[in-house]
Amino acid sequence: MSPRRHQISFTSSLVGIVIAVFLCALSAVQHAAAQDVAPSVIDVRLGKSGDTTRFVLEMSGKVEAKAFTLADPHRLIIDLPALDWELASDFVPAGRGLISSFRYGLFRPGNARVVIDLAGPAKVSRSFVLPPDPDNNRNWRIVFDLVTTTDAAFRSAAGWPDARPTPAAATPQPDVPSAKPVDRSRKVIVIDAGHGGVDPGAIGTRGTREKNVTLAFAKVLRDAISATGKYEVHLTRDTDIFIELRERVAIARRHDADLFISVHADALERRNVRGASVYTLSERASDAEAAQLARKENAADIIAGVNLGGDSDEVRDILIDLAQRETKNLSVRFAQTVIPKMSEVTRVLRNTHRFAGFRVLKAPDVPSVLIELGFLTNVDDELNLTSATWRRKTAASIARGIDAYFAERLAEASQ
Ligand SMILES: [Zn+2]
Repeated sequence: MSPRRHQISFTSSLVGIVIAVFLCALSAVQHAAAQDVAPSVIDVRLGKSGDTTRFVLEMSGKVEAKAFTLADPHRLIIDLPALDWELASDFVPAGRGLISSFRYGLFRPGNARVVIDLAGPAKVSRSFVLPPDPDNNRNWRIVFDLVTTTDAAFRSAAGWPDARPTPAAATPQPDVPSAKPVDRSRKVIVIDAGHGGVDPGAIGTRGTREKNVTLAFAKVLRDAISATGKYEVHLTRDTDIFIELRERVAIARRHDADLFISVHADALERRNVRGASVYTLSERASDAEAAQLARKENAADIIAGVNLGGDSDEVRDILIDLAQRETKNLSVRFAQTVIPKMSEVTRVLRNTHRFAGFRVLKAPDVPSVLIELGFLTNVDDELNLTSATWRRKTAASIARGIDAYFAERLAEASQ
């Protein structure tokens, strides 16, 4: 017995040494990583005391924050360096006091943002940073206290800080459309994952964010289309980052795309509504629901606190209307080609091709559609939207629609 026990003891002490070495190596790695890893937000708390509403961000480290307000709708924007958000995936922001709701995420590379929707005109009465308080199990905290102000005072204080280049100025402008080569052998398709970063899009019953669903689907769709070898495929984003609507359009034009597909998922109060739908651009909406949807999707830049100054929709609409008739017709034809393919594998809404004034579909020279994959507010659709199997078969059906559309156009061109 003795030699055997000895052997066991030797083995276990060897394991002990290996574990000890591994732990040393691990802590060295963690130590090195800690120095260049962004701090994380570990909690967000709202409180109300008397007339004051308090907003607290608790962080793993000290960060600099800059805040400013914007009117119409009234918002408080808090700009931060890039951060990790270590909040539970089913965390749904809820308002309190002067805060009706808020959202958070990456706005631009290196720039995280919190956008707070205010219940009325309010101002920051105090803001300060609190160091860690281990006795109370608290880490670094940034605190904003809000109190009511008059609408006039709010408006005179609201606006972009002058020193900072506005997002509008930093955004690359759309290129002048170039003449397309007559027979380009590989068609170019740009897939646009709706929302992203500070703009979560719709939020499902189980906390599913539209921005995550659209990104996951866009990648699967890209792979399905690329696998045919017939197309050059680009994504407008492949990470969780915010992109302005006009920049999404600009990306499609810079790639001289033959087709632009913006991917979304909808939400409705009526939770029994489910199914996919496909939208094309029109100044006049097909129905009240489509108009309402376009308003919601077009609010993405407002949701993220983008400076829309000098970007007159009116002027653009007139310019676009002249150049766009042919593009619109092609967009409609693609919608009508892809819907039957999608309906073979998944449920679609009745009258599923609808139209409205979606800003993201306004490239004058790129046929564009917006696909609402389903409703995050419907239990069955939410399950589909988070299912890898459903994504694969639905993406494959859209890929078949793309093939059919281009085959039809090729046949016409050769007649
Ligand atoms: Zn959307």
